[in-house]
Amino acid sequence: MPSFASQVKNELVHVIGSQVCCKTAELAALLRMGATISFNSKHDFGINFVTENAAVARKILTLLKASVPQGIHTEVTVRRSRRLRKHNNYAVRATPSPEASSILKRLGFLTAKNLLDAGTDRNILQNDCCKIAYLRGAFLGGGSVNKPEGEYHLEFVTDNYTFAKLIRDLCHELYLPVGLTDRKNVYIVYLKESEAILELLALIGVEESLLQAFESARNLKEIRNQVNRLVNCETANLQRTINAAMKQIENINLLIKYDEYDELPKVLKQTANLRLNNPEASLTELAELLNCSRSAINHRMRKIDALAMQIRKDNSIKE
Ligand SMILES: [Zn+2]
Repeated sequence: MPSFASQVKNELVHVIGSQVCCKTAELAALLRMGATISFNSKHDFGINFVTENAAVARKILTLLKASVPQGIHTEVTVRRSRRLRKHNNYAVRATPSPEASSILKRLGFLTAKNLLDAGTDRNILQNDCCKIAYLRGAFLGGGSVNKPEGEYHLEFVTDNYTFAKLIRDLCHELYLPVGLTDRKNVYIVYLKESEAILELLALIGVEESLLQAFESARNLKEIRNQVNRLVNCETANLQRTINAAMKQIENINLLIKYDEYDELPKVLKQTANLRLNNPEASLTELAELLNCSRSAINHRMRKIDALAMQIRKDNSIKE
């Protein structure tokens, strides 16, 4: 069973904006997530991108080809990992050529002073449709989302600070409450609220059925949490009842030991006797057995407690 994150990505691979502006935006974000630029002696530029996700490699190929109507030369190589449980690597390469250069120019990658400066991407993100496509690309290239049964968490991870800031700002413009943090040389734009995670996934094109799976898992989790809270609450109540009963029994035994039990008034003796015979009963249950009110039982127990306290004091017994 693929992880929830890869299910989401496998779906997003098939979502492609119908407009050129959106395709450009999505490609830009994907490349920001880890492309390197190569060049040849004729000053033509090429693009290299390595990913562990075959679906993502496929998407980059599709977008590259869609960007250059006259065609572009691309290669894909798969490096199989020899280590167990390590993923394969898929390298997508557009060899240095005037066509690849024209894509990079159109994306704005060649105009910035520094290739890491994602700020120039703003120029191709005028419309909401493009902002959404850009986030889809960023998610495909460096995003992750927890399965809904776990902790709610969706994130974009990048080592490029201006890119992380841009993702954060775009999310804010789409009213998504993301945060930005850094951890060991990477920047993380994250979402923690289930409702917002659903909204982002829906925006970037995740299909209804997967969203519904997320939602029903979320509902189930919330019900389970509620039940756990109730059970915990009942357990706590039960523990309190047992602790109180144990203390009462200890006090009654003290009265017996110091020959004060037989001196007790009739009602107190009756209550004490009932407690000794019903150590697990709550005060309410004792009240039912004696056909009196709970507060009457409570009152009598306090009297027994006070007598025991006096014995302890008189005989210097520590509790
Ligand atoms: Zn667009």
